[in-house]
Amino acid sequence: MGDTRIFRTSKTVALVAHDNKKEDLISWAVTNKDVLCKHQLVATGTTGKLLEEKLQLPVKKLLSGPLGGDQQVGSMIAEGEIDMIVFFWDPMEAQPHDSDVKALLRLAVAWNILMACNRTTADFILTSKLMNEEYALSVPDFSKYLQRNIGKK
Ligand code: PGA
Repeated sequence: MGDTRIFRTSKTVALVAHDNKKEDLISWAVTNKDVLCKHQLVATGTTGKLLEEKLQLPVKKLLSGPLGGDQQVGSMIAEGEIDMIVFFWDPMEAQPHDSDVKALLRLAVAWNILMACNRTTADFILTSKLMNEEYALSVPDFSKYLQRNIGKK
């Protein structure tokens, strides 16, 4: 059994959108401003700038995604600093930072955080009653991996 980590009532939500999906994410965020304002918002650079302008809410802005922002979000996930990611990635266009996108998606799954990659899932998560409650997240147990034998024969 792994440890648990508590998602507090007020959660930290990371928001990221590829260029062709930014309009969709902004429109979703504006529609859901009343809920999002109860949580801490973090975003990659350009997405965060647009969100701050449209929502008039504070957003912690990281570097732009292709310039390291995706990796910063990934690092925050691994450090247990992010509870939920809304990541509207573009399924129709290759990105210069596809490897970073893959790494970010992988870490969100590895650390068992909430993840919405499209508007429908984001709607369902945001309207879950658990969004307004504390929640004990099961942190996956990586101890076997960490204690594996390397080069001992
Ligand atoms: P951006 O990055 O918000 O700085 O455009 C998004 C992304 O990760 O592609």
